[in-house]
Amino acid sequence: MSSRKPFIAGNWKMNHTMGEAQAFMEAVKGKLPDASKVETAIAAPALFLAPMNYLRQGETLKLAAENVYFENSGAFTGEISPVMLADLGIEYAIIGHSERREYFHETNEDINKKAKALFAAGVTPILCCGETLETFEAGKTAEWVSGQIEAGLAGLTAEQVSNLVIAYEPIWAIGTGKTATAEIADETCGVVRSVVEKLYGKAVSEAVRIQYGGSVKPETVEELMAKENIDGALVGGASLEAASFLALLEIY
Ligand code: PEP
Repeated sequence: MSSRKPFIAGNWKMNHTMGEAQAFMEAVKGKLPDASKVETAIAAPALFLAPMNYLRQGETLKLAAENVYFENSGAFTGEISPVMLADLGIEYAIIGHSERREYFHETNEDINKKAKALFAAGVTPILCCGETLETFEAGKTAEWVSGQIEAGLAGLTAEQVSNLVIAYEPIWAIGTGKTATAEIADETCGVVRSVVEKLYGKAVSEAVRIQYGGSVKPETVEELMAKENIDGALVGGASLEAASFLALLEIY
């Protein structure tokens, strides 16, 4: 058993109204598991973060942005900055989600700048990586994911990487209902950990938390979380409804 605390985070993507977000917050109130056993978070649309921060008073639920820019202020219409998140008390920001890489053309370099800017502001990045079905079928997952991680971590300190969260999300498993088998997920999370070890040494690789994401459901979460290299989950669809989010946490 590792000493890393499991971390289950929901990713709502571009879903819900504020009323639905409020209903979710009310429904999970007092029902989250003991925070000493598992860390929980919801990544929500930026518009909802301030009211959700107010609504979670007294709850252990952490909040995350789904994206962030790498500058702290200036003429960047439409963007939100690391210091804006830090100022609100938002703990995490997802960076490099495959949907942002694909639809908004984010590069490994952009994502690395975001990681640095987040750490500088005191917000912890959840750095996503993952391969397409084509790359998976060509047997090139390890090579692809290693490249994403090396580029994403460039210039980060050992202390920063010890505190980082990495999410391995095979693109072919996101929103498709196709979960990677626990063995595949564990193997690739192990590859990610070995890249961190190569770059930063054993202690850092044993500290960094690596989530699996891709169609995780209450029925599949237990087997995945039992694996040596999987320290949590980043969950899209099954995090939208409070009942389903709470069901994911029943194993704790
Ligand atoms: C995600 O959006 O990060 C994700 C894993 O989605 P889903 O759980 O719906 O596959």
